[in-house]
Amino acid sequence: MSRGRIQKALSGFYYVNTGTQLLQCRARGKFRKEGLTPLVGDWVDVQELPGGQGYVERIEPRKNQFARPAVANIDQLVIIASHAIPQTDPYLIDRVSAIAVLKGCEVLVCINKTDLDPADDLYEIYSSAGLPVLRVSAESGEGLNQLTEAISEKLSAFTGNSGVGKSSILNALDPEFHLQVGEVSQALGRGRHTTRHVELYHLRCGADVVDSPGFSSFDTDELNLELKRELPNTFPEFAPYLDHCRFTGCSHTKEKGCAVLKAVREGKVPKSRHESYLRLYEELKPLKEWE
Ligand code: GDP
Ligand code: ZN
Repeated sequence: MSRGRIQKALSGFYYVNTGTQLLQCRARGKFRKEGLTPLVGDWVDVQELPGGQGYVERIEPRKNQFARPAVANIDQLVIIASHAIPQTDPYLIDRVSAIAVLKGCEVLVCINKTDLDPADDLYEIYSSAGLPVLRVSAESGEGLNQLTEAISEKLSAFTGNSGVGKSSILNALDPEFHLQVGEVSQALGRGRHTTRHVELYHLRCGADVVDSPGFSSFDTDELNLELKRELPNTFPEFAPYLDHCRFTGCSHTKEKGCAVLKAVREGKVPKSRHESYLRLYEELKPLKEWE
């Protein structure tokens, strides 16, 4: 038996990287009976067969899992944003970061295209919210060393609005990434933007990444009751104030004596972050416990 990580799932096969080889595996039937589907990012035990084949025998407990993209054990969500065209709506950053925090992922906000626009406002929002934030440019190379450092030894999912520069950044981090992507597309006989499979790429710097198509890929199924219950806790900068509201069960939306609202008024919590909180609160409100 050997241990490895599922790097790619395609047509019923799981490609397991054992560190020395990539085994083409099937999953044992028992998983289906348990309602468990192996996911890219899973750590698994495999029974090797001759010819580079094998069976997935055991799936290790997951730290987290996402439905879209279908990946397990993401350490960090890298949210690529930009103030140059196409501009990123801060609400979309906050929404996806709330989901990531809920799932126990680190969040890194990465502002790209700083050669065109330094995005001071965005930078200010996220640094005063206390979220890790980097300014980078795939074009000039600014900040790429810091980004490399931030993603090394982790599995990171990259997301961001289309055209923000996700592919350009990954290619700038590792020129071979482009090649890897090219090879996969060719094997499938279609272009990379139409490929719908998920794959984990190992970059030269020691980072593992999954490139997910866009913000929308983290959408709807994640707006669930758990997020509704935990919403205030998914904005880490609210933490110092949550226990100081006048009323227990304060929703931090409009109550008298709300310590979060006070912190917003005093400029200690960025207004735009609290606006996103209000929007998410409204979006989640219709969800009912019995559903
Ligand atoms: P994706 O849809 O997020 O993968 O975005 P792409 O990587 O395809 O980039 C979209 C466009 O933005 C391309 O024309 C890139 O050349 C351009 N672009 C990406 N990063 C930068 C950057 O840092 N500076 C500038 N000026 N252009 C960039
Ligand atoms: Zn409150």
